[in-house]
Amino acid sequence: MSNVLVIAEIFGGALKKTTLTTITFAREAAKRTGGKVHALAIGTGLGSVASELATYVDVVHVADDASLKDPVAETHAKAIAAGVKAADATVVCMAATAQGKDFAPRAAALLGAGMASDILGFASDSGFAMKRPMQAGNVIASVEITTGIKVVTTRPTEFDVAAAATAAGTTQTLAVDAGTTRTRYVKFDAVKSDRPELTDARVVISGGRGLKEAGNFKAIVEPLADKLNAAIGASRAVVDSGWVPNDMQVGQTGKVVAPDLYIAIGISGAIQHVAGMKGSKNIVAINKDPEAPIFQIADYGLVADLFKAVPELTSKL
Ligand SMILES: Cc1cc2nc3c(=O)[nH]c(=O)nc-3n(C[C@H](O)[C@H](O)[C@H](O)COP(=O)(O)OP(=O)(O)OC[C@H]3O[C@@H](n4cnc5c(N)ncnc54)[C@H](O)[C@@H]3O)c2cc1C
Repeated sequence: MSNVLVIAEIFGGALKKTTLTTITFAREAAKRTGGKVHALAIGTGLGSVASELATYVDVVHVADDASLKDPVAETHAKAIAAGVKAADATVVCMAATAQGKDFAPRAAALLGAGMASDILGFASDSGFAMKRPMQAGNVIASVEITTGIKVVTTRPTEFDVAAAATAAGTTQTLAVDAGTTRTRYVKFDAVKSDRPELTDARVVISGGRGLKEAGNFKAIVEPLADKLNAAIGASRAVVDSGWVPNDMQVGQTGKVVAPDLYIAIGISGAIQHVAGMKGSKNIVAINKDPEAPIFQIADYGLVADLFKAVPELTSKL
């Protein structure tokens, strides 16, 4: 059998929505391999996550062990390698999140498998060639992994969230002891925010260097974000200037977002920024320079001074 194994992303005892987008890819992959969709949950106290996963896939493997409590690539890659054996899988996939990017290459190395990252979908209706972005998304390459086991990370914004399957799957225990490791998990510094998470938000408002100084994020961007219950993003220029933390960066070296509405305020639209937001359904750009490249991809463009236009928009809303 050539089953497809989805590695679940779990945070604070809950299944991350991004896993459901990978399941959508996995279902298509399983049609092509002729196998079933399995999922692997790794960690401790996985009861509710396993039951939830079973509503989407045929078989859930549960690797519940104290040695797997923390999300460390060194231990989790071992669990993934064991899960591939148990699932009889030839395709291993996980979301191209910070965690997926951390775990997948190490798992691929353990498995002697080829890997393709940030997959956008299949290149054609049959076969296993897949599409992935290169050069900040300016080139879409068609790639094929030639090893027996294939490891893939999938870009969450490119796949719909999977609907529950018609019949619930089964659950199996997977015994894994990660043993001694050279990596030690110290702590997770969560950013506490009342706003929606950047990668999940329906509306994202991003600010750029046009805001002139850090305080203007609070004065100009936040009131508009409050009105629209939006997440706040930023260009790399302002992250590098220390105006906002780097987890707010959108782009090639930041987060990839695809909200229903993306409002770019004082952002020029460099290709590296556009790589992280061009999948948004509606793009609004506010920039005083009519030649700014952001207007080439904007659905609605407002050539205006942001210090006047944004407060006016906020008050009208
Ligand atoms: C390898 C690499 C990776 C990178 N990764 C990323 C990434 O992930 N994300 C990212 O964003 N960038 C990234 N960059 C940087 C990118 O090339 C740009 O430098 C950056 O996006 C520019 O940020 P900005 O648009 O805020 O600033 P600028 O390019 O300086 O643009 C500011 C804009 O504000 C407008 N403006 C100024 N005043 C006003 C006003 N009063 N009212 C209205 N508009 C105004 C200006 O007309 C201008 O268009 C990367 C670069 C490299 C080389």
